[in-house]
Amino acid sequence: MESKLLYKTDIVVIGAGQAGLSSAYHLKKLGLVPGRGFVVLDQSPQPGGAWQYRWPSLTLSTVNRVHDLPGLAFSETLDNDAPQVRANVAVPHYFEVYEKTFGITVYRPVKVKVVCEREGRFRVETDRGFFAARGIINATGTWETPYIPEYRGAEKFTGEQLHTKDYQTADVFKGKHVIIVGGGISAIQLLDEISQVTTTTWVTRRPPLFREGPFGAEEGRAAVAAVEERVRKGLPPASVVSVTGLPVTPAIEAMKARGVLKRREMFSEITERGVQWADGRAMNADVILWCTGFRSSLDHLMPLMLREENGGMVMAGRLATMVAKDPRVHLVGYGPSASTIGANRAGRAAAMELMEYLGLRA
Ligand SMILES: Cc1cc2nc3c(=O)[nH]c(=O)nc-3n(C[C@H](O)[C@H](O)[C@H](O)COP(=O)(O)OP(=O)(O)OC[C@H]3O[C@@H](n4cnc5c(N)ncnc54)[C@H](O)[C@@H]3O)c2cc1C
Repeated sequence: MESKLLYKTDIVVIGAGQAGLSSAYHLKKLGLVPGRGFVVLDQSPQPGGAWQYRWPSLTLSTVNRVHDLPGLAFSETLDNDAPQVRANVAVPHYFEVYEKTFGITVYRPVKVKVVCEREGRFRVETDRGFFAARGIINATGTWETPYIPEYRGAEKFTGEQLHTKDYQTADVFKGKHVIIVGGGISAIQLLDEISQVTTTTWVTRRPPLFREGPFGAEEGRAAVAAVEERVRKGLPPASVVSVTGLPVTPAIEAMKARGVLKRREMFSEITERGVQWADGRAMNADVILWCTGFRSSLDHLMPLMLREENGGMVMAGRLATMVAKDPRVHLVGYGPSASTIGANRAGRAAAMELMEYLGLRA
């Protein structure tokens, strides 16, 4: 694409991870012609959504589960389904095969900088040109928006502060004391790896919610329903762990046995050399690793004024993908659909509802 040209299309899909690819598959299946009917834009250099950036030790045995995209099973694209296969290799390969198999053209790297309204259409401004569209399916995930809570003194700390997003390997922490902050699955996985090579302290805001027993389809549905209820009311989506709890896996049992799963309450401030608790206790550290999650990457939609005062959005439609304030905008991979299985289903609902709303279905 040459820059500064204006391309006219019916629907722009922003993001080509699980959510964007599922949406694109269904738009095409429902009869929309790629190009004139819809285009898919993604800022990353390669197929794979955020999976291309995950740390190398995240393997097919340590991910929760990567659900199939519609029409092609993940397992069919795996040369080797050994548990140690890296997720940041296998999933990007799956998405690449998927795009080719279904003729889904993704324009990349194309970063959407801002979406605004012009004469009844959306104007999608990218770093490679402009698009005019009648509808938007936003599927930009969360990876670009790491969240680190603010603590007094953070700027004074002379050690290193990192986020989950920056993590590559535990080996770089050898010989350093690492404080790991966060009560989610990523925090536990990184604590497990880092505590095998150096000393660690684990702090969380609330006592972690360990969940004994199986987590089957029924529990999964209940967790999704709880998040869906929130976004339908316009509340910001809750974290996954707050609705599912942390499953007690053999890895967690082993961490307990090694004595590294001792949680401390959150410190109250960061000092030059480490952290300090409200009662005056202090601890030196070389690294603070913030495993404090991500927020939805939605800043480019700001001019559309979709948010409520509390930062949430009132979501509507069959699977809560439609923004109630503007039914021409669907968010897939947001709230109840922020998982590979959820994004997959939501892509279909969003494609159907948006095409119906815009009168694009025969
Ligand atoms: C460490 C970690 C492990 C996880 N493990 C699992 C798991 O095992 N199972 C599971 O179901 N879920 C897991 N999840 C949740 C997971 O992120 C989602 O399930 C799913 O991969 C998200 O897909 P997505 O399409 O919504 O987003 P992403 O995969 O993040 O894709 C978003 C795409 O949008 C693009 N993009 C972003 N902003 C822009 C922009 N402005 N312009 C253009 N393109 C843009 C990005 O380049 C990216 O390709 C995990 C999350 C994390 C952080």
